[in-house]
Amino acid sequence: DNVKIRTALLSVSDKTGIVELAGALASQGVRLLSTGGTHKALSAAGLKVTDVSDITGFPEIMDGRVKTLHPNVHGGLLAIRDDQEHVEAMKAHGIEAIDLAVINLYPFEEVRSAGGDYPTTVENIDIGGPAMIRASAKNHAYVTIVVDPSDYPALIEALRTNNGQTSYSFRQKLAAKAYARTAAYDAAISNWFAEALDIEIPRYRTIGGVLREEMRYGENPHQSAGFYVAGESRPGVATARLLQGKQLSYNNINDTDGAFELIGEFAPEQGPACAIIKHANPCGVATGASLKEAYLRALACDSTSAFGGIIALNQLLDGETAEEIVKLFTEVIIAPEVSEEAKAVIAKKPNLRLLETGGLPDPRSRGITAKTVAGGLLVQTRDNGMIEDIDLRVVTTRAPTDRELEDMKFAYKVAKHVKSNAIVYAKDGQTAGIGAGQMSRIDSARIAAIKAEEAAKAMGWSEPMTKGSAVASEAFFPFADGLLSAIAAGATAVIQPGGSMRDQEVIDAANEHGVAMVFTGMRHFRH
Ligand code: 5GP
Repeated sequence: DNVKIRTALLSVSDKTGIVELAGALASQGVRLLSTGGTHKALSAAGLKVTDVSDITGFPEIMDGRVKTLHPNVHGGLLAIRDDQEHVEAMKAHGIEAIDLAVINLYPFEEVRSAGGDYPTTVENIDIGGPAMIRASAKNHAYVTIVVDPSDYPALIEALRTNNGQTSYSFRQKLAAKAYARTAAYDAAISNWFAEALDIEIPRYRTIGGVLREEMRYGENPHQSAGFYVAGESRPGVATARLLQGKQLSYNNINDTDGAFELIGEFAPEQGPACAIIKHANPCGVATGASLKEAYLRALACDSTSAFGGIIALNQLLDGETAEEIVKLFTEVIIAPEVSEEAKAVIAKKPNLRLLETGGLPDPRSRGITAKTVAGGLLVQTRDNGMIEDIDLRVVTTRAPTDRELEDMKFAYKVAKHVKSNAIVYAKDGQTAGIGAGQMSRIDSARIAAIKAEEAAKAMGWSEPMTKGSAVASEAFFPFADGLLSAIAAGATAVIQPGGSMRDQEVIDAANEHGVAMVFTGMRHFRH
């Protein structure tokens, strides 16, 4: 099952390590073939290498669109070496066997994530590369296919210790990787099209990515995990730069994503805003006259839960805000930009992870979210509904005051990012109490009120912030009890989608207590 490598074809866009690999192959007496740019790099390093054009008898044409798409290449990769007919065909047509293919593709994913224009992105769809990768991988009984520079050292080592040969199991593993590579590559291309053309749910949904990093473990220590990036250009946790701190864990990445998507709801023009997240749910969200004030107000909602949290900011992190943040143990900070002064402050906490994204996500952008289920994939368009875009319907005799209306909208934006059932109290652009993830809505309302009472105690306030607050429910109140519980906690205004069989019962209860209520008609379930 060992196959001696006599001829290798090298055709790589990413030239990392290629000279070293080619040198090692040459020193084993392997004959080298390569395409234009690779040929140039290897010749420049003083290696003897044959241009693929010399074996195809055909020049590279059409700006490289056609360089290796030729029977002399594909026959050399696909021939079954001990099949009489194949061998005769090789002889008849002057085809030489190629035993090793080292190929990496045009950088489609990189061009896409850099936001390349349409023609540039299309031009970066590699055609000949995937064809050779798939041909070589199919013929792994004879051919070794290497698609990743990180595999070069293992290849060199295998040849060195095995007399210039590769083993069958080695080639099998590389073939598996090769198809994963072309699958992820085509997934990136098809998803780019879906995005560009706004085709949301196509017949075939391919989701793929390139392993950015392996995590030490997954959600729990006995689970393994990796972070795969799809090559999108959207500002977010996948495209952020880690300015300092340890590698992010699986849970960090998930929570940071939740934090940053939430803070994206608060346009920087409308003033500073801060969200503190724990286990993918916010424990405090606030706006403020300054970013520092927004942070302190977010923290005041639930300073106990904020310990070890994730902080997302909607604008440049400045020095004075950073000074406040470092007083408490925090896992991650994510912001569109970070000032030099803030960097210096945070540098004193070397374990604190600091991410800079270069911008905020657009909450109205379309995109998709996916979730695996046993044997399949559930795909949906992002929840890009925005309260600002909705005509609110006042359903009570009393209409909300302007201040109540502002607090309602604020609470609803936050509730969209809280696991169902979600109840969020807010007052003056600050969450007063958040109830998340309960199996009954009334429990979420009660928990949120308890949280508000605890915050008042911790902060030395005379009464909980729920007094005179607005309350948001991300889905309708099925009974009046949840609403009554919110009223008992002091809410004077309510925002909810409406649409329950018992809406009238809920409206009556609101009227009885002089509470103003609006219906949004848009639910924000989040499970
Ligand atoms: P080079 O830098 O050697 O000129 O080109 C290397 C790149 O060309 C590799 O990424 C390889 O996948 C790609 N490639 C090789 N053959 C073909 C082909 O026939 N058509 C296209 N579009 N790309 C090819």
